[in-house]
Amino acid sequence: MKQPERESSTDLFDTPLARELADLNNRRKALATTTIPLPSSTRIMTVSNQKGGVGKTTTTVNIAAALAKYGARVLVIDLDPQGNASTALGVTHHAETPSIYDVLIDDFPLADVVQKSPEFDSLFCAPSTLHLAGAEIELVSQVAREHRLRTALETFLQDASEPWHYVFIDCPPSLGLLTINAFVAAKEVMIPIQCEYYALEGLSQLLGSIQLIQKHLNPPLTLTTILLTMFDSRTNLANQVAEDVRGHFASEVLSTVIPRAVRISEAPSFGQSVITYDPTSAGAISYLEAAAEIATRGADRARTLENQGASAHGG
Ligand code: ADP
Ligand code: MG
Repeated sequence: MKQPERESSTDLFDTPLARELADLNNRRKALATTTIPLPSSTRIMTVSNQKGGVGKTTTTVNIAAALAKYGARVLVIDLDPQGNASTALGVTHHAETPSIYDVLIDDFPLADVVQKSPEFDSLFCAPSTLHLAGAEIELVSQVAREHRLRTALETFLQDASEPWHYVFIDCPPSLGLLTINAFVAAKEVMIPIQCEYYALEGLSQLLGSIQLIQKHLNPPLTLTTILLTMFDSRTNLANQVAEDVRGHFASEVLSTVIPRAVRISEAPSFGQSVITYDPTSAGAISYLEAAAEIATRGADRARTLENQGASAHGG
């Protein structure tokens, strides 16, 4: 019986893995010369999804770190009592640390609780401590309970000696008063969507909440960004979910998707973002690309809004 012909050497290298590595290499090279436009006014983005474990904190931390790496001045507000963003950014957040709890409940100035992250010189974090778990209840009886974060943030930004380019607010997995405070303080909403079963479940509830906030508390709030995370290109399901989400939100979904990657999940246990933990890994590259996309799209959007304003006044 005739032996099957051996693969030629070119075929041997034309494997999915080899293609993936070559692709990663090209993307790495492209990133080496990537620069981003800095916004002329602070972009305040709340990272929300009432589902837990979809990549909110991971996305907040790594997008913030990536933007800081590009040279932006970035503040992360950790509004989740679990304090995972504070951990990943390597800032102190034991029970006695002045934290976002003190800002919301005891009127501490935000400037008094902000710490510099060891990750980048231009990356800062307002930590959460376990006290924040009680804030959801304590806020109920506070004056202007939905506006407390907004007021604190406005004062902080007005008094700042240097411009802040981005503020990211990492929300807990619920639609309680903490999340409402984030929605009222922000101008933009970013939703990370996990490319798994039930990805779209609960999304209409979230969109409904955003509409309510727009109507009653913060009219300019806009859903600008959706990021697909934990993507596994080998599964039909992930591709199906991605296609569905793009079908519904063509202009909000970033073209970059974040792969499921071990390095991304390892980084927080070293008190790091994946951007510094393993800068050349697929996870870091994807978050750097996503961050550049957020910056560019934001600049395009600002220009469009400006032109609309100019023609409205001029016409
Ligand atoms: P959330 O803040 O929405 O609850 P997290 O960001 O904490 O979600 O992510 C949930 C878990 O999934 C964490 O253990 C995190 O390390 C892991 N994770 C997040 N994104 C990725 C990814 N792209 N690849 C692998 N693991 C991930
Ligand atoms: Mg979280």
